[in-house]
Amino acid sequence: MTKTASQLRSRFGLIIIMLVLNILVPLSSTTWVKAGIDEYEVLESHLQKIERLISAVKDGETGQRGFILTGREDYLTPLFQGYAEVDHLLGSLKGEIDPKEYPEFVALQAQIAEQRTYWNQVIQLHRDKGQAEAIARIRAGEGKRLMDTVRQEVAGIEGRIQQQSLLASQKIELRRQIILIALLMIALLDLILIAILYKFTFRVLDETKTSENRLMELSEQLSRGMLELERRNHETVLMSRMASALHSTTDFPECYDIITRFASQLFSNAPGCIHLYHPSRDVLELAGAWNGWESAKSLFEPHQCWSVRRGQTHSVQDTSKDLICPHMAGLTLGANGYVCVPLMAQGEPIGVLTLCNHPSTGIELAEAFAEQVSLGVANLALRESLRHQSIIDSLTGLHNRRFLDETISRELLRAGRNQSTTAIVLLDVDHFKRFNDTHGHEAGDAVLRHLAVEMKRLVRASDLACRFGGEEFALVLPECTHAGAVARCEALREAVSRMQVMYGGSPLGPVTISMGIAMYPQNGQKADELLQAADKALYEAKRLGRNRVCMSESLSASQALPSHPVGRG
Ligand code: GH3
Ligand code: MG
Ligand code: MG
Repeated sequence: MTKTASQLRSRFGLIIIMLVLNILVPLSSTTWVKAGIDEYEVLESHLQKIERLISAVKDGETGQRGFILTGREDYLTPLFQGYAEVDHLLGSLKGEIDPKEYPEFVALQAQIAEQRTYWNQVIQLHRDKGQAEAIARIRAGEGKRLMDTVRQEVAGIEGRIQQQSLLASQKIELRRQIILIALLMIALLDLILIAILYKFTFRVLDETKTSENRLMELSEQLSRGMLELERRNHETVLMSRMASALHSTTDFPECYDIITRFASQLFSNAPGCIHLYHPSRDVLELAGAWNGWESAKSLFEPHQCWSVRRGQTHSVQDTSKDLICPHMAGLTLGANGYVCVPLMAQGEPIGVLTLCNHPSTGIELAEAFAEQVSLGVANLALRESLRHQSIIDSLTGLHNRRFLDETISRELLRAGRNQSTTAIVLLDVDHFKRFNDTHGHEAGDAVLRHLAVEMKRLVRASDLACRFGGEEFALVLPECTHAGAVARCEALREAVSRMQVMYGGSPLGPVTISMGIAMYPQNGQKADELLQAADKALYEAKRLGRNRVCMSESLSASQALPSHPVGRG
């Protein structure tokens, strides 16, 4: 741009120079030609004066001749007028003519003076001695000789002046020609300058247009970059929100719902799904799908996906050339094919993300998404496993004491709100030590496992069966009357008493249990009070001979419940 500016400056300089020339040359040429014309006019005026001079001399001669012939003094008037005119013209020419240039003029002045003296003498002679003497003097021929000499000198001067006039007129013509050529040159230069300016202006316009186009291109690039940045920012925000949601979720259906919802926003044009390994690890199951995914298979085996087999992204752009995963067979694939990204956790595949019609430029996003999903699912699985371990008793698969402590207070609050009754039951295996002592600890464990199965079978889904510790168990039966609780406990007691536990190929013998029931709110408001009351009732059942169900003391006293001892000793 600075180059263009300096070129523009130099061209403006040229324009100014040409403008000055356009004004100065015509002005100075006019002066120049005028000087030539003035010179010519001066010469012309000299010529005129010389002609007037000779005419005045002739007038003088005529006057002198008239006086000689007539003797009349008035005939001398033209002579004196001629003298005056001649003096005037000579005086004027003297100041204007250079005697070095016109030697004839000096001679002419002398001739005229001599002629005048001659004429004065002739006139005086006529006056003094009469006409005859004067004519005799004239006849001597001096007057004629003087007149001829004057005529000669005048002709000489006239010839020189005419010669100079011719030179002056030629000079004027030459100047005119020079000026014409100069003006033509200037006009030509003007044209050349206009052509240069025309070319330059169009070049600058072209350059400006090119710069504008470049600027437009840059601006478009910038806006494309901004859009790309906005898109990336949007993706990052969505990804971060998904990661946060996955971190906070506690169950798998919710986790799959989160993944599906965010995937449908992140891959708005690409139908897709995720498959996760079944815990058996021999099959992958559909966990979520979005954007109208047409599920070909909700289940497939790990070897049916190239990305799972190879543990890396498998992108199919050209369906006629690339390897197509068997689990995708039968699906109509779009122009962009599909991509499978393995979901990996701790270097192990846990599932696969599949996106149809996803552009190859978006693989990075798909991989980042897969990473977040893997992390979220693996974390949830870990948390689930830890939670499971922390609340489930490993021997019986029932909830443990910790879970009971967490749940019981909540159940009591709910019962309080609903104004319903809840039964808390403590259960103990009778003479359990004997099993251990007789058949070994393993056999005792087998009894406990069987007992747990029976408990799970006989309680409702809303009831809670927990291992309280050792061979003691607890039941929480919400929305259950005392009669209902007794009936349920009796059913359990009877079922256990009929239970056949096999160990080492032979039956272990009958198992009986004793149970103590406490009712909320009758036996207490708090968990501790109720557990204590149930424990007391259990102790009572033991004391009364075991294999029986006992209500808490206060309850049996106040409500006089029928006892159901099955007295077996
Ligand atoms: P009672 O009828 O009075 O309840 O007699 P009991 O033998 O059942 O009572 P006791 O409290 O004397 O014995 C409980 C036994 O349970 C003691 C312990 O060795 C055994 N035990 C506790 N936990 C386990 C367990 O997880 N597995 C096995 N096999 N035995 C256990
Ligand atoms: Mg015990
Ligand atoms: Mg016992």
